[in-house]
Amino acid sequence: MKAMESVRLYFERAAESLNLSDESKRLLLTPKREIQVQVPVKMDDGELQTLIGYRVQHDDSRGPMKGGLRFHHDVNLDEVRALASLMTWKTAVVNLPYGGAKGGVCVNPQALSRNELELVTRKFVDQIHDIVGPTTDIPAPDMGTNSEVMAWFRNQWEKYHGFGPACVTGKPVELYGAKGREEATGRGVGILAFKLLQRLARKPQETRVAIQGFGNVGFHAAKMLAEAEFKIVAVSDVSGGYYRPDGLNTQEVLRYAQSNNGSLDGYADAELISNEELLALDVEMLVPAAVGGVITVDNVDNIKAPVIIEAANGPITPSADDRLCERGVFVLPDILANAGGVTVSYFEWVQNLQHYSWDLNRIRQELDHVLSDAFEQVWRQGKQHGLGLRTAAYRIAIERVEFATRIGGA
Ligand code: NAD
Repeated sequence: MKAMESVRLYFERAAESLNLSDESKRLLLTPKREIQVQVPVKMDDGELQTLIGYRVQHDDSRGPMKGGLRFHHDVNLDEVRALASLMTWKTAVVNLPYGGAKGGVCVNPQALSRNELELVTRKFVDQIHDIVGPTTDIPAPDMGTNSEVMAWFRNQWEKYHGFGPACVTGKPVELYGAKGREEATGRGVGILAFKLLQRLARKPQETRVAIQGFGNVGFHAAKMLAEAEFKIVAVSDVSGGYYRPDGLNTQEVLRYAQSNNGSLDGYADAELISNEELLALDVEMLVPAAVGGVITVDNVDNIKAPVIIEAANGPITPSADDRLCERGVFVLPDILANAGGVTVSYFEWVQNLQHYSWDLNRIRQELDHVLSDAFEQVWRQGKQHGLGLRTAAYRIAIERVEFATRIGGA
């Protein structure tokens, strides 16, 4: 199923429980603006390549639009459109004063030199600078882009519009970035996992966890969960899974990955298993934090974990999600589970607008506050209407956007 179709399906389910009219649904689903631009780049060897870039601005009824900028060879309008609408629901469920957007350039960043990467960024900004900015649409890093790309983005945007670091987030900390942005998504996963366990009256010490993916999100989620005394029994990355039924030495695993260029490859103090086996482990909590579509109708019946935290975007396909729901598995949906990143991006934007820098402690406290609040609202909504956490989260998000559209005018 394409990304757009699953977001739409989840939207439809929640919209149905809200009794939204067809005209309201059409308004909420239709992006405000979609643009496709030509990005001509003179490569290092002198060849002129014409790349295609996109920015989809889905909704701005609750504030400026917010969403990542992806450089990947699979980037296409359908995917960008789905991700833009996902951002609208994600910012709404955690109640940030933002709408949703997403953009990207269809290019393989690994095949580019640093100079070419900078050129792609600057040429793309040349094409879209007049529709993005601190009060309209604020991009951020995503697949294939990083804080350096954001620094070039800001520099190019400021050539047209003057000083305005709030035009983009995820910048280097030394250049108006926020402390704690790197850990934010994984930290958020930890905060939310803890809240969910409390609601389920379970103890972290008695909760065995398996984490798939050990990149930015998986690494920091593991760190946070270990601090909260969860028992991490398995972790994985593209090199495979690493399992110890009696619990991994998480500090040692974190140090190993750090000293091994982020990779778990070669970690010896555990049994080597496959990523597929990791998903089927006898654990109390599963945290898919790698890529989308890893739990499908083909393997869902092997899943034993009663709690799944969707740290990655879309790790469970809708039909697999239905089966998990029937079995009473608690799935904390991606729009809430990985919203820690956009929340700290919001803090970065706020600091930039105030010309004032917060310390890490404050950022962590505010993140805890925003996510804990959002979790409680989603939990209560689910209980009140007899809904799973995903539909409850979408319901809250859609209700907020629909209200803003109705009261503020479209
Ligand atoms: P990353 O590139 O830093 O790390 C990805 C990790 O997954 C790596 O350890 C990689 O080895 C592993 N991996 C890749 N393919 C795999 C596979 N088929 N099986 C098992 N492991 C595999 O990415 P990230 O920033 O950690 O993002 C992970 C997920 O979280 C993505 O779905 C992303 O869209 C989502 N997400 C990230 C953020 C963020 O702030 N980084 C925010 C929201 C959502």
